[in-house]
Parts: sequence; C-alpha cells; structure tokens
Amino acid sequence: MKVLVAVKRVVDYNVKVRPKADNTDVDLANVKMSINPFCEIAVEEAVRLKEKGVATEVVAVSVGAQQSQDQLRNAMALGADRGILVTTDEALEPLAIAKCLKAICDSEAPDIILMGKQAIDGDNNQTGQMLAALMGCGQATFASELSIADGKATVIREVDGGLQTLALELPAIVTADLRLNEPRYASLPNIMKAKKKPLDTTTPADLGVDVAARTKLLGVELPAERQAGIKVEDVAQLVEKLKNEAKVIS
Ligand code: AMP
Repeated sequence: MKVLVAVKRVVDYNVKVRPKADNTDVDLANVKMSINPFCEIAVEEAVRLKEKGVATEVVAVSVGAQQSQDQLRNAMALGADRGILVTTDEALEPLAIAKCLKAICDSEAPDIILMGKQAIDGDNNQTGQMLAALMGCGQATFASELSIADGKATVIREVDGGLQTLALELPAIVTADLRLNEPRYASLPNIMKAKKKPLDTTTPADLGVDVAARTKLLGVELPAERQAGIKVEDVAQLVEKLKNEAKVIS
C-alpha cells in the first residue's frame, strides 16, 4: 500500500508574524520556516502505517519554492521514503495546490493520501476537501484516529458535537487533527540518511495545471490592539456596564 503525504512549508509556529512595512503581505524576511505542524502529524501517521506493515511506501509531496526541499528532507528524516517537489515561486491558492496534488496522485496512484487539516499560514482548511472533490474519492477531515484493514480505512473524526466514525473505501483523503498522534523527533542519523533519499522535482506547467490566481491579496494588517479590561465590584455593576457602556444587553 502506497501512502502519499502532502507537506507544506510555512512560517514556524513559534514566530510572531508581522506585515511588511507597505502592508502588501506578511514579512517573510529572515523568518524561520518549518513543516506545517498538521502535515508533520500526517507524516508521522504515514510512517506508523509503514512500521505496522500496513504501508509499503511513503511519498512526501510539496508544492512551493525550491526551499520547500528542506521540509521534504525533514519528512524523509521522519521516515518518508522519497519526496516530490512541485516547484513554483508563486503563492498558490488551495485550488491550484489541490490540482497539482491531483496530477501527482494520477501518476503515483496512492492508496491513501494523508494531509494536514489546515496550514497555519493561510488557515484555509480547504486543500484536502478540494483534492477529494477533484479525485472523486472519499474524505475524512479532522482525523484523531486512523486504522486500515481489508482495503478500507476507519477514521474517527473530531466534530463539534463529539466524535464521528467513518468507514472509507480506498483511495481516500484523510486530514490530520492535533490528537491523531505526537510526531517523533528526527534523529541525527535519520537526518543524514534523508539527504540521500530520492527527491524529484516538477513544475505546475509540466503537470499541465493552470495555477492562475482567482483571488487578489489586497493587504495585510495587524489586528487592532486589545483594550485593557476592567474589574467590576459586583454583578450589579457588571450588568450596568454591559447595558449602558458595552450596550450588548438591554
Ligand atoms: P490548507 O487548505 O491551506 O489549510 O492546507 C491543508 C493541507 O493541505 C496542509 O496541511 C497540507 O497537507 C496540504 N497543503 C496545503 N498547501 C500545500 C502545499 N503548498 N504543498 C503541499 N501540501 C499542501
């Protein structure tokens, strides 16, 4: 069974992002970039499937700038067997990324595609769902448990009201939520070994994918500073302030 894992290069989750001086975009100069945390969880799950003998090969795929090779090497240090980079210098929209991933899936024919539930840069939470629609296959988003047997995947999903269990025919898309697993740290020997694993590159044009943007980024601003709160003496004063100052109750 072949597992394909989609891995995105994003600003590291510890970095406090700020807009560029002209507010045209997020300032990425000298900012630490990492593998998207939910993609790391997806990689860990894929590697665990291989360790259990369920999967035979784990292929990590990224769409992005040349530097995304670092995140693919990172995925390989965690246990992925090889990487594929779809190179582009444009910041692509989820639909364009899903189309690139679809083209890779057409040639790789994976049995299951593991992805993050969302990328922490755009917070879109769209690519997995769009890929499932393009491929015409089943999807289980926000997965907190995955098991595979008899050519079927059983996924427990975290939904608003609790947990939902789905059975999916393969191939299918599963997107990882926070509690799916706790990713391992890459060991130094595995980081060294990952440097020698195969990494192929292609481009959206080679894949025949139209990546033209359908939306335009107009500007990026920091949210307004929060005002300091106040302490009220008692419930009566709280109600009075909610009524007459905040005007949120009548
Ligand atoms: P998003 O829809 O942007 O929140 O991303 C959801 C998931 O789609 C991510 O966690 C990745 O698994 C995958 N994904 C999004 N963008 C890319 C990309 N540029 N390259 C590879 N995978 C991606």
